[in-house]
Amino acid sequence: MTNRISHWIDGKNWAGVAERTGEVFDPATGEVRALVDFAGDGQIAEAVDAAAAAFPGWRDTSLAARTKIMFTFRELLVARKDELAAIVTSEHGKVLSDAAGEVQRAIENVEYACGAPQLLKGGYSENASRGVDVYSLAQPLGVVGVISPFNFPAMVPLWFVPNAIACGNTVVLKPSEKDPSAANFIAELFAEAGLPSGVLNVLHGDKVAVDGLLTHPVVKAISFVGSTPIARYVYETGTAAGKRVQALGGAKNHMVVLPDADLDLAADAAVSAGFGSAGERCMAVSVIVAVDPVGDELVSKITERMAKLRVGDGRDPDSEMGPLVTAAHRERVASYLDAGVEAGARLVVDGRDTGVDGGEGGFWLGPTLFDHVEPGMSIYTDEIFGPVLCVARAHSYDAALELVNANPYGNGTAIFTNDGGASRRYQNEVEVGMVGVNVPIPVPVAYYSFGGWKNSLFGDSHAYGPEGFHFFTRTKVVTSRWLDPSHGGVNLGFPRNV
Ligand code: NAD
Repeated sequence: MTNRISHWIDGKNWAGVAERTGEVFDPATGEVRALVDFAGDGQIAEAVDAAAAAFPGWRDTSLAARTKIMFTFRELLVARKDELAAIVTSEHGKVLSDAAGEVQRAIENVEYACGAPQLLKGGYSENASRGVDVYSLAQPLGVVGVISPFNFPAMVPLWFVPNAIACGNTVVLKPSEKDPSAANFIAELFAEAGLPSGVLNVLHGDKVAVDGLLTHPVVKAISFVGSTPIARYVYETGTAAGKRVQALGGAKNHMVVLPDADLDLAADAAVSAGFGSAGERCMAVSVIVAVDPVGDELVSKITERMAKLRVGDGRDPDSEMGPLVTAAHRERVASYLDAGVEAGARLVVDGRDTGVDGGEGGFWLGPTLFDHVEPGMSIYTDEIFGPVLCVARAHSYDAALELVNANPYGNGTAIFTNDGGASRRYQNEVEVGMVGVNVPIPVPVAYYSFGGWKNSLFGDSHAYGPEGFHFFTRTKVVTSRWLDPSHGGVNLGFPRNV
């Protein structure tokens, strides 16, 4: 019998019968491992109602009690991190070490949320006018929606959920329908940690569930992560419905290699950042910009390393790169290989030649390398989101910078160089939200915030860290004057001596 994955509403699994379901695959074998229920109007209403009912009690729960639950959740997550990583691998396909890395970054966000009492402190100005004090409060918004993509099914929900609930909000999480089990595992662990029913609900489904949250009058804010066209749609629809929205979109991340760079370091970085998680990372490097004259040598060093990459089932500890998430996604990525050749790029390594023993039904595509890629080609303009690395050549630092800044995406970028002045100039001039200097995937730690520029983010708040707390609270400023009975009920000095 096929496993069933259903909604988690008001502290329990939803017991109804879904009108629509989706298939969840094991990407390494191609088998259907489960069916996931898709929400319709009834379940959207149930989840939002549960979150709305839980809000008054949760917002009045003391900071000490909220934080205690967060610490307990963190302990449970650490104790069971291998289980969560195994769930991620079984539905996403990424190798276990990548999944473990994802869970570790998720834990760091939970640890940040444990600092809520410190982070939620407001300001206080005594005697702003004679006898008048002014202070600010950071209050929760109410019910917030979190909509996450397939590529980090544990980490992206945990970019938002801990901070949102630590701030006193209640949440409806809509994870990707491609790998939905991690969200249920997280919700059950929160319940075990003592989180009251209804504070975190998981609603599974597709566009119907997303649209339901975007237009529901009770939902006050939406945190979205996914592809750029959907991020734009979510931002426009959610803000038109009066909600606060942060919508993080897709990427085309460039790694610039200057002539003085350590080319072995750069080649190692290109391979790990290009092919880790089969390139299904919004911070994956997808374009190497080789500044003359390093192109030929760099391509040859990358090619040597690619030949050693072991592609296989993510559960096998010897595998370094797993399959793509679905057959349809694999076909879409593979279609770019023909498109690149037709457009005139040089296909240096063709991933379609990669086979995996024992994984005949899996969604495999090996590491692929294109050289002499030009800006007009679809392999350059489109986010491929697979193990396809493009090398573009630039004559100078200025030409490389111009190429990066002309790109409509601005999520992450890296520069490889031994020249401190050049790297300082790059971090100042590049129009990208996250910059690595000799670091290929510059994902900010949990106490900074994560977000791109241009078409990689719609809205003005980045995810997690200080901006996350800011997003999940609204500020109230109180101006207060107390009459002092010991002085005959007359306020000292105000309004007489203002
Ligand atoms: P996606 O945009 O297809 O899906 C994201 C979410 O939106 C899912 O929950 C999905 O169910 C929902 N959705 C899909 N189509 C929809 C529609 N038509 N209307 C309403 N909702 C819809 O993205 P994905 O394929 O799951 O994830 C990969 C994408 O996410 C890549 O573009 C990647 O760059 C991006 N991403 C960005 C970041 C970032 O921080 N900027 C992080 C991770 C992933």
